[in-house]
Amino acid sequence: MIRKQIHPSAPAKSGPPTDRRPAPAPPPPPPWRPWLLLVGVALTILLFVVSGVNGQAASPKTLTFTAFQSSVSADQVKTATIGSTGHVSGTFVKGGGYTTQIPTALQDTGLSGLLTTHHVQITGTAPSTGVSLVTVIFDLLPLIFLVGLFMWIGRRAKKQLGGAGIGGGLMGFGGSKAKVYDEERPTTRFADVAGYEGAKQEVSEVVDFLKNPHRYEKAGAVGPKGVLMVGPPGTGKTLMARAVAGEAEVPFLALTGSSFVEMFVGVGASRVRDLFSDARKRAPSIIFIDEIDAIGGKRGGGHGFGGNDEREQTLNQMLAEMDGFDPATGVVVIAATNRPEALDTALLRPGRFDRTVEIPLPNLAERRAILGVHGKEVHLGPDVDLGIVARGTPGFSGADLANLVNEAAVHAVRDNRSVVDADDFDSARDRLLLGRRESSNALLPEEKHSVAVHEAGHAMVAMLSPHADPVAKVTILPAGQALGVTEQLPEIERHLYPESYLLDSLAVRLGGRSAEVLVLGEPSTGASNDLAGATQLATRMVREWGLSPRLGPVGYASDGPGYLGENGLMGRPYAEATQRAIDEEVAALLRQAEERATELLRSHREELDRTVDLLIERETIDGDDLAAIVYPGRADVPSPHPVRVVE
Ligand code: ADP
Ligand code: ZN
Ligand code: MG
Repeated sequence: MIRKQIHPSAPAKSGPPTDRRPAPAPPPPPPWRPWLLLVGVALTILLFVVSGVNGQAASPKTLTFTAFQSSVSADQVKTATIGSTGHVSGTFVKGGGYTTQIPTALQDTGLSGLLTTHHVQITGTAPSTGVSLVTVIFDLLPLIFLVGLFMWIGRRAKKQLGGAGIGGGLMGFGGSKAKVYDEERPTTRFADVAGYEGAKQEVSEVVDFLKNPHRYEKAGAVGPKGVLMVGPPGTGKTLMARAVAGEAEVPFLALTGSSFVEMFVGVGASRVRDLFSDARKRAPSIIFIDEIDAIGGKRGGGHGFGGNDEREQTLNQMLAEMDGFDPATGVVVIAATNRPEALDTALLRPGRFDRTVEIPLPNLAERRAILGVHGKEVHLGPDVDLGIVARGTPGFSGADLANLVNEAAVHAVRDNRSVVDADDFDSARDRLLLGRRESSNALLPEEKHSVAVHEAGHAMVAMLSPHADPVAKVTILPAGQALGVTEQLPEIERHLYPESYLLDSLAVRLGGRSAEVLVLGEPSTGASNDLAGATQLATRMVREWGLSPRLGPVGYASDGPGYLGENGLMGRPYAEATQRAIDEEVAALLRQAEERATELLRSHREELDRTVDLLIERETIDGDDLAAIVYPGRADVPSPHPVRVVE
């Protein structure tokens, strides 16, 4: 295996462009919005002023008590409304109002007698002065205004934080109101997804189920509940999920795993509940969870802060929902990840994500097909051969290819042309290769050659070593951190490894590097992983398994994975001199293995070169292809050994 060197400072891969229409962006605030606030303030002030003016206009004449008494005596007063505190208001016979205050300190003013004698109509009011709706509203206006202001600021803050990013803003982090998922009915069809026939086949059962869940129910069959799509970024997982929804013509509820997990504990779980209940209401429907590793990572990691708890709760809730729902409801959960190894195993149990669909990087034919899909959207010149473009883009994902077509079109536009020609594709490819190398697996052409040499070396040595596992597949398509892989498949599951097997294993591991030295004249950094693996194996052979004649049949057992190494707490169970002997023996084993690998490759140089060429041409070859090169003319290869596998 050859590995990509990881630069610690490599920028995180920016998400591939998706075919998803961007969530409807909040419309830009209308230009008049800032004025709204001002108008509000102005209105409020106006209301106060107007009420004041009103009050003055209708404001009755204020009389002294004496003047009041004489008015009553002169029969000028028609009504008097007397409050419990002695406040009097009323109207004159001639019209107009008045107010006055009874001097309550004087116990007896003889007022009641006076009023009755002069036939004034008396009304008493309850101690609490009447509270009208209007006065309440006026009293509350400033408060209402302040609350409104806060809500407005809160909404703005939320928008600046990216909408769904922070729950329902200041007011609603309970999450129940905040919708973190988009819902739509995609029009994507399988025809929009180029290649991946196998994957389409697997998900077509989901389509079938969603179209008529009741058929399954009648037959007593349990339909698919969850499909996990695994593959590197940009290979069309989201696209495929949307195509499933499109083909089945059902609603598609999409969200990303990370949007579940937020600062506030309990939000994630409640969102899961909402999501599932919403999906059930709309059944048959599809829930699509992108980056499920964000919530579905292994539980009980223990380290970390509150966030972990929250994630576990979210995951538990999701498992509960998936267990709980009746398959006949017709809700299927599709999840995507590019880190399947990080997923909690509970997710993969039957009844949850019981189907795993692999979506690897596209091979040559698939790249051609994807280019075809996206090439339709631009005007291609007669000199553009998409087959050649596909050949020049190993390691490109579907998203990379879509981007390539677009870049080529942009290049043409820059030249004021509307037809995209082969040159545009060339410069677009160079641009993408050079610009995105840090974050993508795309290989430069000369790297493709080196990787092919390296992998061919492994494969050749494996093929030619009688005790090595058979070669199943050799590929120079990057997978994860590996730039290329040689897979060997053991024919039997081994519990015991004979020395001859281990020695061949060492040679196969070193074969990649040997081929580089032989063909390219120098080794590269690509072999670091092979070397580490070979060294570890050789060390165990010498130290644990007594396979070195010089040390003899001694085995210093390591404590398995927890072993702390020579300098660890456990100390060394042997003398300094023994350590030196071990080191020397390990080095000797490795050197012998390298010599053997080099010798095998040198004596089969022609086959090696042919393998390299075939790999560059086809990118992935299998054991039969290799056998046809090493043992030409024999349909049924009398493999000198049962086939074995090497990494
Ligand atoms: P993923 O979800 O695996 O990261 P996406 O589904 O978002 O990848 O794919 C990104 C874009 O790449 C798609 O919108 C599409 O334009 C393009 N693409 C990827 N794979 C294919 C394919 N097989 N056929 C056509 N276009 C593809
Ligand atoms: Zn290797
Ligand atoms: Mg995606």
